[in-house]
Amino acid sequence: MTRSIKPLVAGNWKMNGLKADLAIAAGVAKGYDAALKPSVDLAICPPASLLFAATAALIGSRIATGGQDCSTQGSGAFTGEVSAAMLADAGASFCIVGHSERRTLHGETNATVKAKAEAAQKALLLPIVCVGETKDEREAGKALAVVKKQLRGSVPDGATPATLVVAYEPVWAIGTGLTPTAADVAEMHEAIRAELGRLLGKQAAAGVRLLYGGSVKPSNAAELMNVANVDGALVGGASLKAEEFLAIARACAG
Ligand code: PEP
Repeated sequence: MTRSIKPLVAGNWKMNGLKADLAIAAGVAKGYDAALKPSVDLAICPPASLLFAATAALIGSRIATGGQDCSTQGSGAFTGEVSAAMLADAGASFCIVGHSERRTLHGETNATVKAKAEAAQKALLLPIVCVGETKDEREAGKALAVVKKQLRGSVPDGATPATLVVAYEPVWAIGTGLTPTAADVAEMHEAIRAELGRLLGKQAAAGVRLLYGGSVKPSNAAELMNVANVDGALVGGASLKAEEFLAIARACAG
């Protein structure tokens, strides 16, 4: 945790969720009580098809919504793409960009991720820029170098705490039940903060929320959230169960 930063727990539903699953969002809203609200911000990133309805279901809850990806383009002949302005129009406040599934399955480069983050900022969405090394890269001792390079290539110039969130998601930890040690998370988050300091200036970097993501569950959330420079979590699987997501939020609130 960074004492001066209000943590954020964001749920990434990935390609899961039909209308009936808005009950999950309603369940999270029900449990996001007066004790929790001042201590932790929450966001739910459903598939784009549910964004408008999820935002409507969360009115009055102070839970934000977000997209999981956006186009680099503003509008036009880009069949199947969703622009950042469309996400904002549907009620989103955040947009995940550069998730490892996008980088791997859709060949997104750092330059693409940066362009998407800039498109999100232009639409007044707060981009959650994801970075993280593969298992091979960690085993080869290259994790820090890989993540620093991703940051240099993906983070928009001049970003501030009001226009940027970074999520460290080791690729090998996503959806696998595996997590890095607290010491490895601490080392990485410190390195991310330092690299952001070089890119954005120390003052801006000090306030940027750095989320940890990758198999966060109620059982490991307290340990991970207590690591220095971890300012919240990006949660995949466990965000599909209201009680689990709330338990992680409680762990994050301290
Ligand atoms: C994710 O997809 O961003 C993620 C962190 O997934 P999980 O929590 O399921 O590992």
